[in-house]
Amino acid sequence: MGEAWTPVSLAEARGLYTMTPKRCPACHGQVIVAGSYTGTGRLKLQHRRAHTGCPLRPQGYVGTPSPHPQALT
Ligand SMILES: [Zn+2]
Repeated sequence: MGEAWTPVSLAEARGLYTMTPKRCPACHGQVIVAGSYTGTGRLKLQHRRAHTGCPLRPQGYVGTPSPHPQALT
């Protein structure tokens, strides 16, 4: 059995998987979880490399989903 990708919440990704590579559930590009350290701010996915074909990235999304050019597999 190989390594599987596990869907986690942003809070889990932030707290439990800080050092683990994370990928976007939509385009599979590498992402980081951005947010405040105090836990009061909103957490959000941030793509390591901008990608215009990701519906989870409202700024710059071109309207048609496409896989990230540097998708993690
Ligand atoms: Zn994405």
